[in-house]
Amino acid sequence: MMSYSSNEQDVIVIGGGISGLATAWYLAKSGLSVQVWEKSSLCGGKIKTDNINGFQTEQAASMVMNFKPEVDQFFNQTGLDSFKAQRLLSSESQRYLIHQGKLQALPMTISKLFFSSLWTHSGKLKLLMEPFISKGSNPNESVSEFITRRFGSEFLEKAMEPFISGTLASDPDKACARYVIPRLTALERKYGSITAGIIVHKILRKRTARNPESFSFQQGMQTITQQLADDPKLGFQANYQVDKIIRHNTKNGQHHWEVQAQTSYGDIQCKARHVVIASPAENAAQLLKPLNQQLGDLLSSIEYAPLSVVHLGFEKSAIKHSLNSAGFLVPRQEKMSINGNLWMSSLFADKAPQNHVLLSSYLGGARHPGMINLSEQESVDEVLKNIKPLLGIHSSPVMAKVNKHHQALPMYHDNYHQKLTAMEEQLKTLSGMHLEANYKGGVSIRDRIVSAKNTAENIIQQCSIEHPSTSASLFNPLSLNPIIEKPA
Ligand SMILES: Cc1cc2nc3c(=O)[nH]c(=O)nc-3n(C[C@H](O)[C@H](O)[C@H](O)COP(=O)(O)OP(=O)(O)OC[C@H]3O[C@@H](n4cnc5c(N)ncnc54)[C@H](O)[C@@H]3O)c2cc1C
Repeated sequence: MMSYSSNEQDVIVIGGGISGLATAWYLAKSGLSVQVWEKSSLCGGKIKTDNINGFQTEQAASMVMNFKPEVDQFFNQTGLDSFKAQRLLSSESQRYLIHQGKLQALPMTISKLFFSSLWTHSGKLKLLMEPFISKGSNPNESVSEFITRRFGSEFLEKAMEPFISGTLASDPDKACARYVIPRLTALERKYGSITAGIIVHKILRKRTARNPESFSFQQGMQTITQQLADDPKLGFQANYQVDKIIRHNTKNGQHHWEVQAQTSYGDIQCKARHVVIASPAENAAQLLKPLNQQLGDLLSSIEYAPLSVVHLGFEKSAIKHSLNSAGFLVPRQEKMSINGNLWMSSLFADKAPQNHVLLSSYLGGARHPGMINLSEQESVDEVLKNIKPLLGIHSSPVMAKVNKHHQALPMYHDNYHQKLTAMEEQLKTLSGMHLEANYKGGVSIRDRIVSAKNTAENIIQQCSIEHPSTSASLFNPLSLNPIIEKPA
Protein backbone atom coordinates (compact mmCIF):
# COMPACT_ATOMS: atom_id res chain seq x y z
CA MET A 1 0.00 0.00 0.00
CA MET A 2 1.26 3.50 -0.86
CA SER A 3 1.43 6.26 1.69
CA TYR A 4 2.31 9.92 1.20
CA SER A 5 5.54 11.20 2.77
CA SER A 6 5.44 14.84 3.79
CA ASN A 7 2.69 15.20 1.17
CA GLU A 8 4.12 17.79 -1.17
CA GLN A 9 7.47 19.52 -1.66
CA ASP A 10 8.63 22.25 -4.00
CA VAL A 11 11.53 20.00 -5.01
CA ILE A 12 12.45 16.34 -4.55
CA VAL A 13 16.17 15.61 -5.06
CA ILE A 14 16.99 11.98 -5.90
CA GLY A 15 20.47 11.02 -4.67
CA GLY A 16 22.34 12.14 -1.56
CA GLY A 17 25.87 12.52 -2.97
CA ILE A 18 27.56 15.93 -3.09
CA SER A 19 25.61 16.89 -6.25
CA GLY A 20 22.22 16.27 -4.65
CA LEU A 21 23.07 17.67 -1.24
CA ALA A 22 24.66 20.85 -2.60
CA THR A 23 21.67 21.46 -4.90
CA ALA A 24 19.29 20.92 -1.97
CA TRP A 25 21.32 23.30 0.18
CA TYR A 26 21.00 26.13 -2.36
CA LEU A 27 17.27 25.40 -2.78
CA ALA A 28 16.59 25.31 0.96
CA LYS A 29 18.56 28.50 1.42
CA SER A 30 16.26 30.25 -1.02
CA GLY A 31 13.21 29.26 1.02
CA LEU A 32 11.93 26.40 -1.15
CA SER A 33 10.78 23.21 0.54
CA VAL A 34 13.01 20.31 -0.44
CA GLN A 35 13.71 16.68 0.43
CA VAL A 36 16.71 14.57 -0.58
CA TRP A 37 15.88 10.90 -1.11
CA GLU A 38 18.87 8.57 -0.96
CA LYS A 39 18.66 4.85 -1.62
CA SER A 40 21.52 3.75 0.63
CA SER A 41 21.66 3.95 4.40
CA LEU A 42 24.35 6.66 4.31
CA CYS A 43 24.66 10.09 2.77
CA GLY A 44 27.59 11.10 0.56
CA GLY A 45 27.42 8.71 -2.40
CA LYS A 46 30.99 8.14 -3.55
CA ILE A 47 32.39 10.29 -0.75
CA LYS A 48 33.12 8.17 2.31
CA THR A 49 35.87 8.23 4.93
CA ASP A 50 36.96 5.12 6.84
CA ASN A 51 39.09 4.80 9.93
CA ILE A 52 41.22 1.68 10.21
CA ASN A 53 43.53 1.42 13.23
CA GLY A 54 44.34 5.13 13.11
CA PHE A 55 44.63 5.34 9.29
CA GLN A 56 42.02 7.64 7.75
CA THR A 57 41.26 6.51 4.20
CA GLU A 58 39.05 8.06 1.54
CA GLN A 59 36.90 5.80 -0.61
CA ALA A 60 36.83 8.39 -3.43
CA ALA A 61 37.60 12.13 -3.25
CA SER A 62 40.60 12.81 -1.06
CA MET A 63 40.68 16.60 -1.33
CA VAL A 64 39.02 19.66 -2.81
CA MET A 65 41.12 21.65 -5.25
CA ASN A 66 39.54 25.05 -5.54
CA PHE A 67 40.07 28.31 -7.35
CA LYS A 68 36.43 29.40 -7.74
CA PRO A 69 34.93 32.15 -5.56
CA GLU A 70 31.46 30.56 -5.52
CA VAL A 71 32.98 27.42 -3.96
CA ASP A 72 34.67 29.54 -1.29
CA GLN A 73 31.31 31.14 -0.66
CA PHE A 74 29.60 27.73 -0.38
CA PHE A 75 32.04 26.49 2.26
CA ASN A 76 31.80 29.77 4.07
CA GLN A 77 28.01 30.03 4.07
CA THR A 78 27.44 26.37 5.00
CA GLY A 79 29.81 26.77 7.94
CA LEU A 80 31.98 23.98 6.53
CA ASP A 81 34.93 26.37 6.48
CA SER A 82 35.48 25.78 10.17
CA PHE A 83 36.04 22.04 9.55
CA LYS A 84 38.66 22.53 6.82
CA ALA A 85 42.00 20.72 7.13
CA GLN A 86 44.68 22.61 5.22
CA ARG A 87 47.51 20.93 3.34
CA LEU A 88 50.72 20.38 5.25
CA LEU A 89 52.76 20.97 2.10
CA SER A 90 52.62 24.25 0.22
CA SER A 91 51.14 24.05 -3.26
CA GLU A 92 54.58 24.91 -4.68
CA SER A 93 56.21 21.85 -3.14
CA GLN A 94 57.53 19.09 -5.36
CA ARG A 95 55.39 16.72 -7.34
CA TYR A 96 56.76 13.69 -9.08
CA LEU A 97 56.31 12.02 -12.42
CA ILE A 98 57.66 8.65 -13.40
CA HIS A 99 60.25 9.20 -16.12
CA GLN A 100 62.22 6.26 -17.54
CA GLY A 101 61.20 4.09 -14.61
CA LYS A 102 62.28 6.56 -11.91
CA LEU A 103 60.69 9.31 -9.83
CA GLN A 104 61.47 12.66 -11.41
CA ALA A 105 60.57 15.93 -9.66
CA LEU A 106 58.10 17.92 -11.73
CA PRO A 107 59.05 21.62 -11.73
CA MET A 108 56.22 23.73 -10.33
CA THR A 109 56.83 26.98 -12.21
CA ILE A 110 56.51 27.45 -15.95
CA SER A 111 60.10 28.66 -16.34
CA LYS A 112 61.53 25.73 -14.35
CA LEU A 113 59.28 23.35 -16.22
CA PHE A 114 60.56 24.71 -19.50
CA PHE A 115 64.23 24.34 -18.57
CA SER A 116 63.73 20.88 -17.04
CA SER A 117 65.55 17.90 -18.52
CA LEU A 118 62.13 16.30 -19.03
CA TRP A 119 61.86 17.95 -22.46
CA THR A 120 63.87 17.39 -25.62
CA HIS A 121 64.98 20.40 -27.69
CA SER A 122 62.26 19.83 -30.25
CA GLY A 123 59.71 19.48 -27.41
CA LYS A 124 60.80 22.89 -26.05
CA LEU A 125 60.61 24.45 -29.49
CA LYS A 126 57.05 23.20 -29.89
CA LEU A 127 56.13 24.76 -26.51
CA LEU A 128 57.59 28.08 -27.67
CA MET A 129 55.53 27.97 -30.85
CA GLU A 130 52.20 27.77 -28.98
CA PRO A 131 51.21 31.46 -29.31
CA PHE A 132 51.53 31.19 -33.09
CA ILE A 133 49.19 28.20 -33.53
CA SER A 134 45.80 29.13 -34.95
CA LYS A 135 42.52 28.38 -33.18
CA GLY A 136 40.74 25.05 -33.68
CA SER A 137 37.05 24.76 -34.50
CA ASN A 138 36.11 21.11 -33.88
CA PRO A 139 33.73 20.84 -30.86
CA ASN A 140 34.58 17.11 -30.59
CA GLU A 141 38.36 17.62 -30.52
CA SER A 142 39.90 15.16 -28.04
CA VAL A 143 42.28 16.22 -25.28
CA SER A 144 45.14 14.52 -27.16
CA GLU A 145 44.31 16.32 -30.41
CA PHE A 146 43.98 19.68 -28.68
CA ILE A 147 47.18 19.40 -26.63
CA THR A 148 49.23 17.96 -29.50
CA ARG A 149 48.01 20.70 -31.84
CA ARG A 150 48.94 23.47 -29.41
CA PHE A 151 51.92 22.09 -27.44
CA GLY A 152 53.16 19.00 -29.26
CA SER A 153 53.02 15.29 -28.47
CA GLU A 154 55.79 15.42 -25.87
CA PHE A 155 53.76 17.73 -23.62
CA LEU A 156 50.76 15.45 -24.10
CA GLU A 157 52.63 12.31 -23.08
CA LYS A 158 54.70 13.74 -20.24
CA ALA A 159 52.25 16.19 -18.66
CA MET A 160 48.64 16.04 -19.80
CA GLU A 161 48.13 12.30 -20.34
CA PRO A 162 49.29 11.32 -16.82
CA PHE A 163 47.10 14.08 -15.38
CA ILE A 164 43.98 12.99 -17.29
CA SER A 165 44.55 9.28 -16.57
CA GLY A 166 45.71 9.76 -12.99
CA THR A 167 43.13 12.23 -11.76
CA LEU A 168 40.11 11.64 -14.03
CA ALA A 169 40.62 7.93 -14.91
CA SER A 170 39.95 9.02 -18.49
CA ASP A 171 41.61 8.42 -21.87
CA PRO A 172 42.86 11.68 -23.41
CA ASP A 173 42.62 10.16 -26.90
CA LYS A 174 38.85 9.89 -26.43
CA ALA A 175 37.99 12.56 -23.85
CA CYS A 176 36.34 15.68 -25.26
CA ALA A 177 38.71 18.63 -24.66
CA ARG A 178 36.12 21.37 -24.18
CA TYR A 179 34.48 19.47 -21.28
CA VAL A 180 37.56 17.88 -19.66
CA ILE A 181 40.01 20.79 -19.84
CA PRO A 182 37.51 23.65 -20.20
CA ARG A 183 39.85 26.31 -18.82
CA LEU A 184 42.47 25.63 -21.50
CA THR A 185 40.00 25.47 -24.37
CA ALA A 186 38.36 28.67 -23.12
CA LEU A 187 41.74 30.44 -23.11
CA GLU A 188 42.27 29.42 -26.71
CA ARG A 189 38.79 30.64 -27.67
CA LYS A 190 39.24 33.97 -25.87
CA TYR A 191 42.87 34.84 -26.49
CA GLY A 192 43.80 32.63 -29.45
CA SER A 193 46.63 31.18 -27.35
CA ILE A 194 46.91 29.52 -23.96
CA THR A 195 50.28 31.13 -23.23
CA ALA A 196 48.88 34.58 -24.05
CA GLY A 197 45.80 33.87 -21.94
CA ILE A 198 47.90 32.79 -18.95
CA ILE A 199 50.04 35.92 -19.21
CA VAL A 200 46.95 38.16 -19.35
CA HIS A 201 45.44 36.32 -16.37
CA LYS A 202 48.68 36.61 -14.42
CA ILE A 203 48.61 40.35 -14.94
CA LEU A 204 44.92 40.61 -14.00
CA ARG A 205 45.35 38.29 -10.99
CA LYS A 206 47.09 41.15 -9.18
CA ARG A 207 43.70 42.82 -8.94
CA THR A 208 41.09 40.10 -9.11
CA ALA A 209 41.74 36.41 -8.61
CA ARG A 210 42.73 34.20 -5.70
CA ASN A 211 45.31 31.43 -5.59
CA PRO A 212 44.24 27.83 -6.03
CA GLU A 213 43.92 26.04 -2.72
CA SER A 214 43.57 22.34 -1.92
CA PHE A 215 42.18 21.11 1.35
CA SER A 216 40.44 18.27 3.15
CA PHE A 217 38.29 18.30 6.28
CA GLN A 218 38.62 17.30 9.92
CA GLN A 219 37.43 13.68 10.16
CA GLY A 220 37.89 13.43 6.40
CA MET A 221 35.93 14.32 3.30
CA GLN A 222 32.75 12.72 4.60
CA THR A 223 32.41 15.75 6.88
CA ILE A 224 31.20 17.76 3.86
CA THR A 225 28.28 15.50 3.03
CA GLN A 226 27.49 14.52 6.62
CA GLN A 227 27.22 18.15 7.75
CA LEU A 228 24.94 18.97 4.83
CA ALA A 229 22.73 15.90 5.36
CA ASP A 230 22.44 16.68 9.08
CA ASP A 231 20.84 20.04 8.28
CA PRO A 232 17.07 19.52 8.78
CA LYS A 233 16.22 22.05 6.05
CA LEU A 234 17.57 19.65 3.43
CA GLY A 235 15.09 16.93 4.45
CA PHE A 236 17.61 14.15 3.90
CA GLN A 237 15.98 10.69 3.90
CA ALA A 238 18.20 7.59 3.88
CA ASN A 239 16.96 4.20 2.60
CA TYR A 240 14.59 5.86 0.13
CA GLN A 241 15.11 4.08 -3.18
CA VAL A 242 13.21 5.94 -5.90
CA ASP A 243 11.78 3.48 -8.39
CA LYS A 244 9.23 5.50 -10.34
CA ILE A 245 8.43 9.04 -11.38
CA ILE A 246 4.94 9.78 -12.74
CA ARG A 247 3.79 12.91 -14.52
CA HIS A 248 0.32 14.25 -13.60
CA ASN A 249 -1.20 16.85 -15.89
CA THR A 250 -3.34 19.47 -14.18
CA LYS A 251 -6.41 21.25 -15.54
CA ASN A 252 -4.61 24.54 -16.19
CA GLY A 253 -2.31 22.85 -18.72
CA GLN A 254 0.52 22.48 -16.21
CA HIS A 255 1.77 19.35 -14.50
CA HIS A 256 3.44 18.11 -11.35
CA TRP A 257 5.59 15.09 -10.65
CA GLU A 258 4.89 12.21 -8.31
CA VAL A 259 8.01 10.50 -7.00
CA GLN A 260 7.68 6.98 -5.61
CA ALA A 261 10.22 5.21 -3.43
CA GLN A 262 10.68 1.95 -1.55
CA THR A 263 11.67 2.66 2.02
CA SER A 264 12.12 0.75 5.24
CA TYR A 265 8.63 2.00 6.21
CA GLY A 266 7.02 0.68 3.01
CA ASP A 267 6.32 2.44 -0.27
CA ILE A 268 6.22 6.23 -0.14
CA GLN A 269 5.17 8.86 -2.64
CA CYS A 270 5.42 12.60 -2.77
CA LYS A 271 4.29 15.33 -5.16
CA ALA A 272 6.68 18.01 -6.38
CA ARG A 273 6.73 20.63 -9.09
CA HIS A 274 10.44 20.07 -9.64
CA VAL A 275 12.53 16.90 -9.48
CA VAL A 276 16.33 16.84 -9.53
CA ILE A 277 17.89 13.50 -10.42
CA ALA A 278 21.34 13.58 -8.83
CA SER A 279 22.23 9.92 -9.32
CA PRO A 280 24.75 8.25 -11.64
CA ALA A 281 23.66 8.22 -15.29
CA GLU A 282 22.34 4.64 -15.42
CA ASN A 283 20.08 5.13 -12.37
CA ALA A 284 18.72 8.31 -13.98
CA ALA A 285 18.23 6.40 -17.24
CA GLN A 286 16.10 3.73 -15.54
CA LEU A 287 13.85 6.37 -13.97
CA LEU A 288 13.52 8.42 -17.15
CA LYS A 289 13.07 5.75 -19.84
CA PRO A 290 9.29 5.43 -19.17
CA LEU A 291 8.99 9.23 -19.54
CA ASN A 292 11.35 9.79 -22.48
CA GLN A 293 13.02 6.72 -23.96
CA GLN A 294 15.50 8.75 -26.02
CA LEU A 295 16.75 10.67 -22.99
CA GLY A 296 17.06 7.40 -21.06
CA ASP A 297 19.07 5.82 -23.89
CA LEU A 298 21.40 8.82 -24.06
CA LEU A 299 22.01 8.56 -20.31
CA SER A 300 22.66 4.82 -20.61
CA SER A 301 25.29 5.53 -23.24
CA ILE A 302 27.50 7.56 -20.85
CA GLU A 303 30.62 5.49 -20.24
CA TYR A 304 32.14 5.10 -16.79
CA ALA A 305 35.66 4.05 -15.85
CA PRO A 306 36.25 1.37 -13.20
CA LEU A 307 38.84 2.15 -10.54
CA SER A 308 40.31 0.50 -7.45
CA VAL A 309 41.80 2.66 -4.72
CA VAL A 310 44.43 0.75 -2.76
CA HIS A 311 45.35 2.27 0.62
CA LEU A 312 48.52 0.99 2.26
CA GLY A 313 49.80 1.95 5.70
CA PHE A 314 53.48 1.52 6.57
CA GLU A 315 55.78 2.24 9.45
CA LYS A 316 57.72 5.35 8.45
CA SER A 317 60.99 3.49 8.93
CA ALA A 318 59.95 0.93 6.29
CA ILE A 319 60.32 3.53 3.53
CA LYS A 320 63.58 5.04 2.29
CA HIS A 321 62.02 7.91 0.35
CA SER A 322 61.31 11.08 2.34
CA LEU A 323 57.78 11.36 0.82
CA ASN A 324 58.30 15.10 0.50
CA SER A 325 55.47 15.68 -1.92
CA ALA A 326 51.84 15.01 -2.78
CA GLY A 327 52.86 11.85 -4.65
CA PHE A 328 53.40 10.88 -8.26
CA LEU A 329 51.64 10.33 -11.58
CA VAL A 330 52.54 7.74 -14.20
CA PRO A 331 52.64 8.48 -17.96
CA ARG A 332 51.24 5.66 -20.11
CA GLN A 333 54.59 5.21 -21.87
CA GLU A 334 56.04 3.93 -18.59
CA LYS A 335 53.95 0.75 -18.86
CA MET A 336 53.22 0.55 -15.14
CA SER A 337 49.93 -0.83 -13.87
CA ILE A 338 49.19 1.99 -11.36
CA ASN A 339 48.02 5.41 -12.60
CA GLY A 340 49.23 7.36 -9.60
CA ASN A 341 50.10 7.31 -5.93
CA LEU A 342 49.03 9.93 -3.35
CA TRP A 343 51.12 10.37 -0.21
CA MET A 344 48.17 11.17 2.00
CA SER A 345 50.04 11.47 5.29
CA SER A 346 52.42 14.00 3.70
CA LEU A 347 49.45 16.02 2.45
CA PHE A 348 47.27 16.20 5.56
CA ALA A 349 47.60 15.69 9.32
CA ASP A 350 45.83 12.80 11.07
CA LYS A 351 45.88 10.47 8.08
CA ALA A 352 48.16 7.95 9.78
CA PRO A 353 49.19 7.14 13.36
CA GLN A 354 52.44 8.61 14.66
CA ASN A 355 55.54 7.28 12.89
CA HIS A 356 53.41 5.77 10.15
CA VAL A 357 52.53 6.83 6.61
CA LEU A 358 49.52 6.33 4.37
CA LEU A 359 49.91 5.87 0.60
CA SER A 360 46.85 5.64 -1.66
CA SER A 361 47.24 4.23 -5.18
CA TYR A 362 44.88 4.18 -8.15
CA LEU A 363 44.55 1.06 -10.31
CA GLY A 364 42.45 0.75 -13.46
CA GLY A 365 40.60 3.62 -15.11
CA ALA A 366 40.26 3.82 -18.89
CA ARG A 367 43.92 2.81 -19.18
CA HIS A 368 43.67 -0.58 -17.43
CA PRO A 369 39.93 -1.33 -16.96
CA GLY A 370 40.63 -5.04 -16.37
CA MET A 371 42.37 -4.23 -13.05
CA ILE A 372 38.95 -4.01 -11.37
CA ASN A 373 38.71 -7.81 -11.71
CA LEU A 374 41.72 -8.41 -9.44
CA SER A 375 40.92 -9.68 -5.97
CA GLU A 376 41.73 -7.37 -3.07
CA GLN A 377 44.94 -9.27 -2.31
CA GLU A 378 45.95 -9.21 -5.98
CA SER A 379 45.31 -5.44 -6.10
CA VAL A 380 47.56 -4.92 -3.07
CA ASP A 381 50.28 -7.13 -4.59
CA GLU A 382 50.04 -5.25 -7.89
CA VAL A 383 50.51 -1.89 -6.15
CA LEU A 384 53.40 -3.18 -4.04
CA LYS A 385 55.12 -4.50 -7.17
CA ASN A 386 55.03 -0.94 -8.57
CA ILE A 387 55.85 1.19 -5.54
CA LYS A 388 58.38 -0.94 -3.64
CA PRO A 389 61.36 -0.25 -5.94
CA LEU A 390 60.34 3.40 -6.50
CA LEU A 391 60.10 4.34 -2.84
CA GLY A 392 62.58 1.89 -1.37
CA ILE A 393 60.01 0.01 0.71
CA HIS A 394 61.61 -2.85 2.64
CA SER A 395 58.80 -4.07 4.96
CA SER A 396 55.23 -5.21 4.47
CA PRO A 397 52.34 -2.82 4.99
CA VAL A 398 50.74 -2.80 8.44
CA MET A 399 47.36 -1.82 6.97
CA ALA A 400 45.77 -2.53 3.58
CA LYS A 401 42.33 -1.49 2.36
CA VAL A 402 40.90 -1.65 -1.15
CA ASN A 403 37.92 0.39 -2.38
CA LYS A 404 36.59 -0.94 -5.66
CA HIS A 405 34.39 1.24 -7.87
CA HIS A 406 32.99 -0.60 -10.87
CA GLN A 407 31.59 2.73 -12.10
CA ALA A 408 34.03 5.20 -10.56
CA LEU A 409 33.94 8.20 -12.83
CA PRO A 410 32.02 9.16 -15.98
CA MET A 411 34.27 9.69 -18.97
CA TYR A 412 33.40 12.55 -21.28
CA HIS A 413 34.37 10.38 -24.21
CA ASP A 414 33.90 10.29 -27.99
CA ASN A 415 30.87 12.22 -29.23
CA TYR A 416 30.13 13.57 -25.76
CA HIS A 417 29.31 17.04 -27.11
CA GLN A 418 26.50 15.64 -29.30
CA LYS A 419 25.23 13.44 -26.46
CA LEU A 420 25.06 16.34 -24.04
CA THR A 421 23.34 18.62 -26.57
CA ALA A 422 20.79 15.89 -27.37
CA MET A 423 20.20 15.23 -23.65
CA GLU A 424 19.53 18.91 -23.02
CA GLU A 425 17.12 18.99 -25.97
CA GLN A 426 15.17 15.95 -24.69
CA LEU A 427 15.10 17.27 -21.14
CA LYS A 428 13.11 20.28 -22.41
CA THR A 429 10.16 17.90 -23.02
CA LEU A 430 10.04 17.21 -19.26
CA SER A 431 9.50 20.61 -17.72
CA GLY A 432 10.40 20.65 -14.03
CA MET A 433 12.79 17.69 -14.41
CA HIS A 434 16.50 18.42 -13.82
CA LEU A 435 19.69 16.36 -14.11
CA GLU A 436 22.50 17.24 -11.72
CA ALA A 437 25.40 14.78 -11.39
CA ASN A 438 29.02 14.35 -12.33
CA TYR A 439 28.42 13.15 -15.91
CA LYS A 440 27.83 16.78 -16.83
CA GLY A 441 29.58 19.92 -15.65
CA GLY A 442 32.74 18.24 -14.32
CA VAL A 443 33.51 15.46 -11.85
CA SER A 444 35.42 17.33 -9.14
CA ILE A 445 33.73 18.44 -5.94
CA ARG A 446 34.49 22.02 -6.97
CA ASP A 447 32.64 21.56 -10.25
CA ARG A 448 29.81 19.69 -8.50
CA ILE A 449 29.18 22.67 -6.21
CA VAL A 450 29.27 25.21 -9.05
CA SER A 451 26.96 23.05 -11.17
CA ALA A 452 24.57 22.47 -8.24
CA LYS A 453 24.35 26.22 -7.74
CA ASN A 454 23.45 26.74 -11.41
CA THR A 455 20.77 24.03 -11.28
CA ALA A 456 19.30 25.46 -8.09
CA GLU A 457 19.27 28.99 -9.52
CA ASN A 458 17.44 27.72 -12.59
CA ILE A 459 14.77 26.08 -10.41
CA ILE A 460 14.47 29.11 -8.17
CA GLN A 461 13.97 31.32 -11.20
CA GLN A 462 11.30 28.99 -12.61
CA CYS A 463 9.53 28.92 -9.24
CA SER A 464 9.53 32.71 -9.17
CA ILE A 465 7.77 32.74 -12.54
CA GLU A 466 5.30 30.01 -11.49
CA HIS A 467 4.51 31.73 -8.15
CA PRO A 468 5.36 35.42 -8.56
CA SER A 469 3.83 36.30 -5.18
CA THR A 470 6.53 34.33 -3.33
CA SER A 471 9.40 35.39 -5.55
CA ALA A 472 10.50 38.26 -3.34
CA SER A 473 11.57 35.83 -0.64
CA LEU A 474 13.46 33.59 -3.03
CA PHE A 475 17.18 33.47 -3.40
CA ASN A 476 18.94 36.43 -2.08
CA PRO A 477 22.29 34.84 -1.29
CA LEU A 478 23.51 37.85 0.60
CA SER A 479 20.57 38.04 2.97
CA LEU A 480 20.75 34.49 4.32
CA ASN A 481 22.70 33.21 7.26
CA PRO A 482 24.61 29.94 7.38
CA ILE A 483 22.19 27.09 8.02
CA ILE A 484 24.75 24.78 9.53
CA GLU A 485 25.92 26.02 12.86
CA LYS A 486 29.62 26.46 13.33
CA PRO A 487 31.14 24.57 16.25
CA ALA A 488 31.44 26.64 19.41
C1 LIG B 1 38.32 7.07 -6.67
C2 LIG B 1 37.83 8.48 -6.81
C3 LIG B 1 38.65 9.53 -6.42
C4 LIG B 1 38.20 10.85 -6.53
N1 LIG B 1 38.99 11.87 -6.08
C5 LIG B 1 38.52 13.14 -6.10
C6 LIG B 1 39.27 14.20 -5.48
O1 LIG B 1 40.33 13.97 -4.88
N2 LIG B 1 38.75 15.45 -5.54
C7 LIG B 1 37.55 15.71 -6.14
O2 LIG B 1 37.15 16.89 -6.17
N3 LIG B 1 36.80 14.73 -6.70
C8 LIG B 1 37.24 13.45 -6.68
N4 LIG B 1 36.47 12.43 -7.19
C9 LIG B 1 35.19 12.77 -7.83
C10 LIG B 1 34.03 12.98 -6.86
O3 LIG B 1 34.22 12.24 -5.68
C11 LIG B 1 32.72 12.52 -7.51
O4 LIG B 1 32.59 13.04 -8.82
C12 LIG B 1 31.50 13.01 -6.69
O5 LIG B 1 31.63 12.62 -5.35
C13 LIG B 1 30.21 12.45 -7.31
O6 LIG B 1 29.12 12.99 -6.62
P1 LIG B 1 27.63 12.83 -7.15
O7 LIG B 1 26.75 13.34 -6.10
O8 LIG B 1 27.51 13.40 -8.53
O9 LIG B 1 27.40 11.24 -7.35
P2 LIG B 1 27.40 10.07 -6.27
O10 LIG B 1 28.39 10.37 -5.22
O11 LIG B 1 27.54 8.82 -7.05
O12 LIG B 1 25.96 10.15 -5.61
C14 LIG B 1 24.81 9.70 -6.25
C15 LIG B 1 23.85 9.16 -5.20
O13 LIG B 1 22.61 8.79 -5.82
C16 LIG B 1 22.09 7.68 -5.11
N5 LIG B 1 21.06 7.03 -5.93
C17 LIG B 1 21.22 6.37 -7.11
N6 LIG B 1 20.05 5.92 -7.56
C18 LIG B 1 19.11 6.27 -6.64
C19 LIG B 1 17.70 6.07 -6.54
N7 LIG B 1 17.02 5.40 -7.48
N8 LIG B 1 17.04 6.56 -5.47
C20 LIG B 1 17.71 7.24 -4.50
N9 LIG B 1 19.05 7.46 -4.54
C21 LIG B 1 19.74 6.98 -5.61
C22 LIG B 1 23.33 6.83 -4.86
O14 LIG B 1 23.12 5.88 -3.83
C23 LIG B 1 24.35 7.89 -4.49
O15 LIG B 1 24.40 8.12 -3.10
C24 LIG B 1 36.90 11.11 -7.07
C25 LIG B 1 36.08 10.04 -7.47
C26 LIG B 1 36.53 8.74 -7.34
C27 LIG B 1 35.61 7.61 -7.73
